[in-house]
Amino acid sequence: MNQPVHNPGHPSLHALTIPLSRNQQSIDHWISILRLSPTGKALVGYAEKHGVRIRIDRQGWQYAYYEADSRRIGLKPNRPDAEIIGNLAHELRHAWQHASGQLTSLTDTPMDFLLRTRATEADAEAVAILVCAELAEAGHPQYLEARLKGEMSDIAQAFLKGGKSGRISGLRAAYDQWFRNGRRRSSYLGYTLEWLEDNADAIAKTTSRHGFRPFNAGEIMKLGALPGGHNYLAESAGAPLDTALYKDGLTPAQQRKIDGIAQEIEGKRSRQHPRHIGPHPAPSLRM
Ligand SMILES: [Zn+2]
Repeated sequence: MNQPVHNPGHPSLHALTIPLSRNQQSIDHWISILRLSPTGKALVGYAEKHGVRIRIDRQGWQYAYYEADSRRIGLKPNRPDAEIIGNLAHELRHAWQHASGQLTSLTDTPMDFLLRTRATEADAEAVAILVCAELAEAGHPQYLEARLKGEMSDIAQAFLKGGKSGRISGLRAAYDQWFRNGRRRSSYLGYTLEWLEDNADAIAKTTSRHGFRPFNAGEIMKLGALPGGHNYLAESAGAPLDTALYKDGLTPAQQRKIDGIAQEIEGKRSRQHPRHIGPHPAPSLRM
């Protein structure tokens, strides 16, 4: 049952509404900055079209996240503005990936789920840096500088180095750089395994009906689509997108865990009867 949170005539209304409107002012301000970049503007427009909402989340443990089931971006407010702009561009790219069917889902095998997580993260960060580079070109260098000083500074540096031969090769260099850091490659593993374990039943039910979705070089390439029609993964020179750089990096113990969950799902699938399959819960994955 829903109780009204506060009585509109109550004096405490001001205490409640002022911080809220300040949140909205901050969000509007960040969005207006993103719109100064052609790619940022396109991502904002795409998110608006698909009903993506942005909110301040003081409780969240992540600086920023995109939650697929609620189509919501959460941002921690206590980060410097210069960093938030890149973080917001990164999450808007996840929203774009979701709307275009590229995000992880209940139809990925456990291994593909992990590989798709890596690929979508690499793409989201590459595009975030593109937005910051466009803002620098428009006279606002602080957002790219924040990226160059942040946790993924190597990716921003790769973008600038690769970008000397053009935007497309800069994006590909940034995408590839994501995978070159071993700690980063395995950083999503714990979270991925937890999610897969929680959703093993739902994956079994969904894939009993629809089968597993492929995740091969052709599928990965779809991730590289940019507003305006270019595709940096298709147009850039480089290794095929399903080679060792993108796939390796699991310890034998980690591989056994992934295989274990895959076996568990296979066991559940073999016990599924198609007529008993109900609607599956939406995944509440945060990227
Ligand atoms: Zn992400």
